Amino acid sequence: MTNPLYDALFAPQAGQDRPFMTLPGGDQLSAADFHDTLARFANALRALDVGPGERVAVQASKSPQMLAIYGAAVASGAVFLPLNSAYTPEELEYFITDCGARLLLVDPARISALTPLAEKLGVRLESLGEGGSFDALADTLPASFTPEPRSDDDLTALLYTSGTTGRSKGAMLSQRNLLSNAEALVDLWRFTSEDVLLHALPIFHTHGLFVASNVVLLSRAQMIFLPKFELDQVFAFLPQATTMMGVPTFYTRLLGDARLCRETVDHMRLFVSGSAPLLAETHREWSERTGHAILERYGMTETNMLTSNPYEGARRPGTVGHPLPGVSLRIADPESGAALPQGETGMIEVRGPNVFQGYWQMPEKTAAEFRADGYFMTGDLGMIDDQGYVNIVGRAKDLIISGGYNVYPKEIELVLDDMPGVVESAVIGLPHPDFGEAVVAVLVPDKATPDISAIESGLSDKLARYKQPKAYIVLPELPRNTMGKVQKAALRNDYAAYFK
Ligand code: ATP
Ligand code: MG
Repeated sequence: MTNPLYDALFAPQAGQDRPFMTLPGGDQLSAADFHDTLARFANALRALDVGPGERVAVQASKSPQMLAIYGAAVASGAVFLPLNSAYTPEELEYFITDCGARLLLVDPARISALTPLAEKLGVRLESLGEGGSFDALADTLPASFTPEPRSDDDLTALLYTSGTTGRSKGAMLSQRNLLSNAEALVDLWRFTSEDVLLHALPIFHTHGLFVASNVVLLSRAQMIFLPKFELDQVFAFLPQATTMMGVPTFYTRLLGDARLCRETVDHMRLFVSGSAPLLAETHREWSERTGHAILERYGMTETNMLTSNPYEGARRPGTVGHPLPGVSLRIADPESGAALPQGETGMIEVRGPNVFQGYWQMPEKTAAEFRADGYFMTGDLGMIDDQGYVNIVGRAKDLIISGGYNVYPKEIELVLDDMPGVVESAVIGLPHPDFGEAVVAVLVPDKATPDISAIESGLSDKLARYKQPKAYIVLPELPRNTMGKVQKAALRNDYAAYFK
């Protein structure tokens, strides 16, 4: 018996002197050292009786140890469950109760604050990282480990969604889900052992964990492992990198810095963006400034990556490219599920080896999100253009129905963003006594008092009347989470009583 994910991603690191990670201070960690830590951690999991199928929850700062515990969980058959480091103890209580973790690993500094919660929930609490109790236990154990046999369909990770549209759901990911996607991406994006990825994403989310880290592990590449995206540090390390993966805010922040020019990134092979929409304008500005076309891709926690712009061939601004090899994607009528003709907008539905096993302990929700023929309804609306590129129009939950008409916020946001004085915008629907929902524009202006009447009249000949905002709200910035996703649900909540 084998353990396919361990065999492909982690076993090849063993005994290899080549560098695997460069840390913020400049120190390098070899692949062999990383694997030794992983093996000791796997022995520690076994010593703590965290066997196959048991959940190990980790809420810790980004570190090589946190990646090693992922590998250790894969080796020992345990289910890896990383949690957003920003979650409060109350939120932690929900996740730990929901997933029934046997072990919770946290930063050493948080042990005393979390001990009462761990006792209440009956979960074993240990600390991970420099000076951690889990690391101390692992240090007493051998740096070799015989992996547990696993099959393609065995559960490997429980990854909670970002909670953009409601309470986070635990997506059950199997060995095959993760491995098939890593293989497709390495191939498509041409990763090799020559690559050095600048890694400044968190590793509690699918982007930094499964997209970035799995691709590096599978291709035997290396990474510059930075705790967060910080401009000075990124500019300091860029000369050593060949590739970078980021959320759109990485790119807008780099563009806002005068140090970004052709020379700074001449040697780079690839820039990838995802997790939130990259404005076509950002894409174009980046191309002009650097000569590089950002490769935008689209995916989600439940499905891993679904589409990508091509490596060779046109990377088209404002689109997320073509379905990955092995992924079937269709645009369907949201109600009936019938496939729609090319060019029409509907629900993006997908099927493939990358699509998850279901939501943890939510059989009804799982059943409701799959069609009878096995397609998963992503909750995103999109259309396929005449050249086969997928265009995301927005989330079904953000669709506004005003006076009986469907209004797609993105269409209005694109027009607003082009208006003089507008930096960015978010269009939302708010409860309205006459219209059901009213279209409302939230604007971030480039100066304190934007000329709203000029914007209003600018819109009047570009958009049908029912699409024109009934009100404008001006904010210094849009609420975003750590992945750069605009929190429209929070905006709707804050202004729910606007028309009442
Ligand atoms: P929740 O499901 O809990 O509401 P979430 O959907 O934000 O949160 P994730 O799984 O982190 O949680 O994000 C997946 C979503 O991110 C996709 O469904 C899509 O809406 C959005 N997304 C990802 N990549 C892109 C992209 N390139 N362009 C536009 N949207 C994207
Ligand atoms: Mg989602």
